[in-house]
Amino acid sequence: MRANTTGAKQSRARRASLKGHLPTQTLKLMAILNIVSYPASVLATVGAPVERFDEALEKLVSDMFETMYAAHGVGLAAPQVGLSLQLFTMDCEGTKITAANPSIVSAEGEQNDDEACLSLASLGAPLRRPNRVVLRAQDLRGQTFEIEGRGLVARCLLHETDHCNGLLFIDHLSPLKRDMVKRKFRKTMKRER
Ligand SMILES: [Zn+2]
Repeated sequence: MRANTTGAKQSRARRASLKGHLPTQTLKLMAILNIVSYPASVLATVGAPVERFDEALEKLVSDMFETMYAAHGVGLAAPQVGLSLQLFTMDCEGTKITAANPSIVSAEGEQNDDEACLSLASLGAPLRRPNRVVLRAQDLRGQTFEIEGRGLVARCLLHETDHCNGLLFIDHLSPLKRDMVKRKFRKTMKRER
């Protein structure tokens, strides 16, 4: 998911501070992955469950974090880097998690703010979502955990869990609003070409 407040400056600062804290070797090992755009079929496919909690998963997750930060995102799901897996990374308002095999176990309240997606050129549209959710998932070691999120954090947990199930935020919009976002997206992609 993409938040409105992040900018290039912030990202440069974050990367600079990352460089200060990580050994050079770790930096070398990280890679920025290609973000898949709508209407790629992988974005509409239910991801396979994560079954192996090994070094390859650790490497993938560290690349996903790097890719997410480089794109000024607050959440990134595996299908967005072309992998049909139930996995996402998130760093949103101080909540930094890796979630494998995520599910929303409770949701309540309501919020109505803009939501945007890195796979839709970061275009946003208002979307009503629950205001408080509890997510259950597994961490990098396969340990099950639960986390509660409110406001933007809840929105991000829902958005990324949707990706793992082959859903985009526009799938929750009315057909009219969905077409508006799709039209804006096509225009943006044409300009960028
Ligand atoms: Zn998204």
